[in-house]
Amino acid sequence: MRAMILETPRQPLKLAELPIPKPNSEQVLIRVHACGVCRTDLHIVDGELTHPKLPLVLGHQIVGTVEAMGEGVDNFNVGQRVGIPWLGYTCGDRCCYCLSGRENLCDYAEFTGYNLNGGYAEYTVADYRFCFPLDPSYADLQAAPLLCAGLIGYRAYRMTGDAQKLGFYGFGSAAHILIQLARYQKRQVFAFTRSGDVEGQQFARQLGATWAGGSDVSPPEPLDAAIIFASVGKLVPDALRAVTKGGIVVCAGIHMSDIPSFPYDILWQERVLRSVANLTRKDGEEFLTLAPKVPIRTEVNAFPLTQANEALDALRSGKIAGSAVLVVD
Ligand SMILES: [Zn+2]
Ligand SMILES: [Zn+2]
Repeated sequence: MRAMILETPRQPLKLAELPIPKPNSEQVLIRVHACGVCRTDLHIVDGELTHPKLPLVLGHQIVGTVEAMGEGVDNFNVGQRVGIPWLGYTCGDRCCYCLSGRENLCDYAEFTGYNLNGGYAEYTVADYRFCFPLDPSYADLQAAPLLCAGLIGYRAYRMTGDAQKLGFYGFGSAAHILIQLARYQKRQVFAFTRSGDVEGQQFARQLGATWAGGSDVSPPEPLDAAIIFASVGKLVPDALRAVTKGGIVVCAGIHMSDIPSFPYDILWQERVLRSVANLTRKDGEEFLTLAPKVPIRTEVNAFPLTQANEALDALRSGKIAGSAVLVVD
């Protein structure tokens, strides 16, 4: 099978011919149709996440069909379409996090496209217990971004409680999905883009943002909560300044540049600053049930598998409106 592999961080992915993987008793073999490109993939390629399996097939927003499965698989059929997310394995009962319903923090977790080979390839294997069935209303390409931008974005969104005025810092794949849920729930979104990104601001307004502007300016009114999707630490004090007393700031990314020091004043008055890590299967089930009800539509920029490097570069330079997705077959 063809795969785009990472051999060494900070080097482009290489097109390689690999054997089709064989599923173990708990795995399904998936023929990949589409795989979303995530900012996390960039952090892995750039060496900012330091423990990838190497060589590695990236990609953790995988849509494909089941081709074969191990004898332990009891809830999928050959030919069924499934989605494979970032969370690829948890221990289930060996760590205190799994035992307390927080499997996103599992001590023994393994992640698709990081510790496990992912979907920048024609085939992949995945533990069936971590695969999701997908709503038939979504085409393959449009479903892919739901599997990380959607799921983990949803987890971050839930952490803002019942905030009515929400700031989104970084208006990429996750924000363009979550704004639709926010509008459906009658909440207001204030979108912050890179300074001068007029197209990005226009895109946010089209999707129903109450206000859109550069992250270097203050919102027109105080916010109840903010989610920082961009991997820029400087945005943390900006967001703390933008939220009102008791406001919540959620850092949704897996990696962020250093946060500059800031005066205690902007955290004082019970403002909360927190991160969000990974997903639980419950997050996935909730979000994938909710998405077709809204219904959430994803804006997709498609690239052929062999142009994975070009897709990553486009994401890095902020040229993607919505989500980048690799078309595999
Ligand atoms: Zn665990
Ligand atoms: Zn991701």
